[in-house]
Amino acid sequence: MNKGELEYDAIIGLEVHAQLATKTKIWCGCEVNPNALENSRVCEICSGHPGTLPVLNNRVVEYAVKMGLGTGCKINNLSYFDRKHYFYPDLPKGYQITQLDIPIAQDGHIVIKDDLGADKRINIQRIQIEEDSGKSSYCEEGLLVNLNRAGTPLIEIVSRPDMRSSNEAVGYLKKLYSILTNLEICHGQLQDGNFRCDVNISLSLKGQETCGVRTEIKNLNSFRHVEKAIESEVLRQSQILESGKEVIQQTLGFDGETMQLRILRSKSDTQDYRYFREPDLIPIIVSEREKTQWEEELPELPDSKRARFMSEYGLSLYDAEILSNHRYLATFFENAAKLFKGEAKKVANWIIVEHLRLLHEFNVKVEETPVLPYDLATLLNAVHDERISGRQAKDVFQKMFVEKKGADLVLSELGFVQISDESILAEIIQKMIDENPILVEQYLSGKERVFGFFVGLVMKSTEGHANPQLTNLLIKKFLENKKYKD
Ligand code: ZN
Ligand code: MN
Repeated sequence: MNKGELEYDAIIGLEVHAQLATKTKIWCGCEVNPNALENSRVCEICSGHPGTLPVLNNRVVEYAVKMGLGTGCKINNLSYFDRKHYFYPDLPKGYQITQLDIPIAQDGHIVIKDDLGADKRINIQRIQIEEDSGKSSYCEEGLLVNLNRAGTPLIEIVSRPDMRSSNEAVGYLKKLYSILTNLEICHGQLQDGNFRCDVNISLSLKGQETCGVRTEIKNLNSFRHVEKAIESEVLRQSQILESGKEVIQQTLGFDGETMQLRILRSKSDTQDYRYFREPDLIPIIVSEREKTQWEEELPELPDSKRARFMSEYGLSLYDAEILSNHRYLATFFENAAKLFKGEAKKVANWIIVEHLRLLHEFNVKVEETPVLPYDLATLLNAVHDERISGRQAKDVFQKMFVEKKGADLVLSELGFVQISDESILAEIIQKMIDENPILVEQYLSGKERVFGFFVGLVMKSTEGHANPQLTNLLIKKFLENKKYKD
């Protein structure tokens, strides 16, 4: 093997857990609130008291079906809940309610870009509804359990092992994330664990169909961690195979602090979850009527938005892709483009280059930007009207962003005010004409080039702030008047 060049294909499948953005939990009326005081959003049902009965929150079914429709899945009119048993302190019932043999949705796909930039279809095996567990953490006194999260509704989205690189895996995750947030069924706060994923990886010799032993990396909640974890694991497995040893079936964790993989447990003795059908809940029935209604309620999704941005606004594929994948950015763009006098391409370019750069530099989320679409349009209109240069616009924009001020305010603070008051301009022009009788005569005798000189004089005396259109109009009017007066 050439040093640094892999003889192996990575075969990657992903399981994504997305928390649904319902107000209340899946089986009870407790509020879903990740920031509430520990164990303050808990009742007998979500804390697993014996003898209590779960009641399904129908909003969960609606959201899961919408995700199924948004990813081209077949929706099962009849699906079931099942119990998956395991012991963990943050799972007080001793089992998780999930869906085993018949999930709410199955057999869908989304389209991503492969490593060469071509469209690639990633198949979705199934989408199942389940409940989240509580959260445990360690302190000096021992283990702490917070049950606020217990009973938060989840959908688990299981892909086929169709991805071949960390790049494709991240592309797939970003597309799923974009669909979930566009559907407004997931808050998408990665740091709160709203969107977490498990990665399955095995290697196969290049060109061969058979795949090797598979390992699983659990619970990643950042795109960068996914990328890093996959790269480390591909390297680890290929080194094992090269040294003539065998990869063993293991579950791994990824430490975001050290950016290192660590082995959690070997899977040689596969856990028996003793699945059986949940007896306390009736099957989920999705009627054709409900399905049609939810389908009608679907908003425009990223792929069709991207196509529309290209045809309607003339954006490049690259710009359209970036803007359409982010719900807030897409709306921001459209609102600013509506108010801008020039080509929408300029707005897109400004958002992607300048705005995203500042957001990144100051570590501000897109949703929390201090700039409004109106302000961006006002600034770009000033460039369009040639009141300020592109270079000056960048400074104005930075000031708007950092000092959280509107474009009008910053433009006037920096002296970029336009004089559009006719009486002020008229006074300047009158004075100028009175002071330059020879030039006026030259103009009137047909030397029209002199006109530009007058414009220059007005701009000089107003330090460039005179409204150019109005200035031209007024100079013409004054000079023509001269013709008849003398
Ligand atoms: Zn509860
Ligand atoms: Mn799960």
